[in-house]
Amino acid sequence: MAHQVVIIGSGPAAHTAAIYTARAELSPVLFEGFMAAGVAAGGQLTTTTEVENFPGFPDGILGPELMDRMRAQSLRFGTEIVTETVTEVDLSTRPFRYKTDSQQGEAETLIVATGATARRLDVPGTRDGELWMKGVSACAVCDGALPIFRDKPLAVIGGGDSAMEEATFLTKYGSKVYVIHRRDELRASKIMQQRALNNPKIEFVWSHQLKEAKGSDLLESIVLESTKDGSTRELAVSGLFFAIGHEPNTGFLAGQLDLDADGYIVTKPGTTETSVEGVFACGDVQDKKWRQAITAAGTGCMAALQAEHFLAAGR
Ligand code: FAD
Ligand code: NDP
Repeated sequence: MAHQVVIIGSGPAAHTAAIYTARAELSPVLFEGFMAAGVAAGGQLTTTTEVENFPGFPDGILGPELMDRMRAQSLRFGTEIVTETVTEVDLSTRPFRYKTDSQQGEAETLIVATGATARRLDVPGTRDGELWMKGVSACAVCDGALPIFRDKPLAVIGGGDSAMEEATFLTKYGSKVYVIHRRDELRASKIMQQRALNNPKIEFVWSHQLKEAKGSDLLESIVLESTKDGSTRELAVSGLFFAIGHEPNTGFLAGQLDLDADGYIVTKPGTTETSVEGVFACGDVQDKKWRQAITAAGTGCMAALQAEHFLAAGR
């Protein structure tokens, strides 16, 4: 028999949708993924340390702990959580069909909350089999404490909140941290900017982009090119961390939902409705603007209520 609600994902959006649909007695099944999109179940917040802006935690809370708590709350109200990745869906008929590596099933409504994944630059020296994971990483919080980075100069690429947060975090380990940004103005929020700008161990390299990463066994230096005059310079660093944004995790949909030019699921403004009736999308997979835990949770709530109304209307 088809489940009434199947939720795909495991971040704040998925768990909020689970809490609401479980409390509405819709017996949700949540596929949390098994290293889906290269991230542990729990989503992006499992790759960070302190979360200071999620309401209800005035002293801050560690990202992984926040996600453990959300998962526990989903379970408390009866959500069935499956630690598998959804690999395929068929949205052409109702009930919808889905597959994982070991099972398949049907769903009357589907809530897609698969989030987004950190981007990498495709630059010589940084690729798999070159210096990737030998000094080059896309997750400072996951890898920054490794011995190869201790008391060494490190570099972060990007000018958003992730870059500021990761650079600040890395100052705990590195001797200094360069922030390399392609423009001369940051995208990051003011408070995150100030923290990084005021940190004596952080040096900003404005208007430069990465051309090459060099090293024999481990990263030893990076070559940068000015975006203003094309001149190049080489910096000795032992760590290079990409913090250049994210790709929405929509590959498993195989083009069955309308996506925008950047691959984000298109939802009708002010709703979580997608181009297929009965399929709702919430969180970062449909949001390239706000991308916060609280906004993901907010849209997770909307998706749950919309799924509930959809089922109640017998559609
Ligand atoms: P995500 O957190 O992206 O999780 C989705 C998860 O679903 C995936 O990671 C994966 O585990 C699973 N999944 C994916 N595909 C499948 C599939 N096919 N089948 C099954 N499961 C699948 N926001 C804040 O508000 N405060 C902060 O302090 C903050 N710090 C951040 C620090 C970092 C380093 C990063 C990268 C982000 C930070 N953010 C912060 C942003 C916040 O993490 C995201 O906005 C939020 O996690 C998005 O939640 P989500 O529910 O959309 O999905
Ligand atoms: P953003 O998209 O906000 O920033 C990406 C940065 O990388 C931009 O500065 C961008 O440059 C740069 N960039 C992108 N592509 C390239 C490229 N090819 N070469 C060089 N540079 C590039 O992503 P973030 O991951 O920083 O943040 C995502 C969301 O998560 C945001 O909503 C943010 O607020 C949130 N977040 C919140 C935190 C907090 O509140 N504590 C912490 C971390 C993230 P340009 O500016 O020129 O486009």
